[in-house]
Amino acid sequence: MSLNLLNLDAAQMANFFAEAGEKPFRAKQLLRWIHQYGEADFSRMSDLAKPLREKLAASAVIAAPQVVSDTTAADGTRKWLIDVGNGNAVETVFIPETDRGTLCVSSQAGCALDCKFCSTGKQGFNRNLSVAEIIGQLWIASRALARDAAKAPGAAPKGERIISNVVMMGMGEPLANFDSVVAAMRLMLDDNAYGLSRRRVTLSTSGIVPAIDRLRETCPVALAVSLHAPNDALRDVLVPINRKYPLAELLAACRRYLDKAPRDFVTFEYVMLDGVNDGAEHARQLLALVRDVPCKFNLIPFNPFPNSGFKRSPREAIRRFAEILISAGLVVTTRKTRGDDIDAACGQLAGRVDDKTRRTRRVVEIQPC
Ligand code: SAH
Ligand code: SF4
Repeated sequence: MSLNLLNLDAAQMANFFAEAGEKPFRAKQLLRWIHQYGEADFSRMSDLAKPLREKLAASAVIAAPQVVSDTTAADGTRKWLIDVGNGNAVETVFIPETDRGTLCVSSQAGCALDCKFCSTGKQGFNRNLSVAEIIGQLWIASRALARDAAKAPGAAPKGERIISNVVMMGMGEPLANFDSVVAAMRLMLDDNAYGLSRRRVTLSTSGIVPAIDRLRETCPVALAVSLHAPNDALRDVLVPINRKYPLAELLAACRRYLDKAPRDFVTFEYVMLDGVNDGAEHARQLLALVRDVPCKFNLIPFNPFPNSGFKRSPREAIRRFAEILISAGLVVTTRKTRGDDIDAACGQLAGRVDDKTRRTRRVVEIQPC
């Protein structure tokens, strides 16, 4: 079977060319062709000698996963459904804003962690995505957006990045697919590929503590942590991984991470669930909990999906909750709901998952604490 070059980070590409007896700069050229120009056809790589192009075509491919659908919401948010084989599909979302363009990337087909308010979690889990399937989402979106920008009058000037930020916040728990996610993020950061700074690549985790420490050592990008509850009793229910890595351990890992992080704070995500975690007492508990961790809060109004069993907190409750945190000196943002008319908002990404865990057949009762 041919080697898929989309699976290789810069170091692996260099090895591939070294083993083929080619000069190291060829690896850089190829990375640029693939990731900067979005080229998948060796015969169009005009600065490579013809024999090399033929040699590559005989032994390798550049194969991104297939796009099943491409939908744009009323607010400009765009969602791709991407086939990753065997009945599974994942979703990738582009969120345009005036000062940036953010791509939300998936890391797994489904998710095994079963957070109670998450549509991906409800789908169960099939498998980890490969590097090609993860970086392929950025490859597909960059190509599609560049093609459209070239057509649109007055669009982004040539050379300006349309995707300025990547967030690993799509389907799946990125730290549960550590090696492939790190290899894909290295490509996002590589100057010969996407050239994003570490501050502009954010990984969101539900809190796999040993993997947070590994990330700190191997590829410290901006870190977001899905907190969602101010005490272990409630978090054990909402985010079940908390039973393995409780809050005290998670917050200690966040503090350690900050030594190497590209930003001097961790972002805590907190989904606002009506009557579950959105009271004044929860906000006050949170203040005590994060006292020693430089952080910002991102409140996420719950995005509903069928049979979730939860309701979004009323706007006034979110405002009051934010006010308590802000009065104590914390920086708090409330995430705008984007793309919900095409089910592209946080937590609504479901794709298509052939559940191997059979979770979808289990009935789970949730009692708000
Ligand atoms: N698995 C990772 C990243 C993917 S989810 C994690 O859990 O952090 C990205 C964010 O959306 C997380 O903070 C997640 O908890 C949140 N989220 C999940 N379901 C949601 C929903 N229905 N409404 C709002 N946010 C949700
Ligand atoms: Fe998985 Fe994140 Fe959803 Fe939890 S919130 S089930 S970790 S994708």
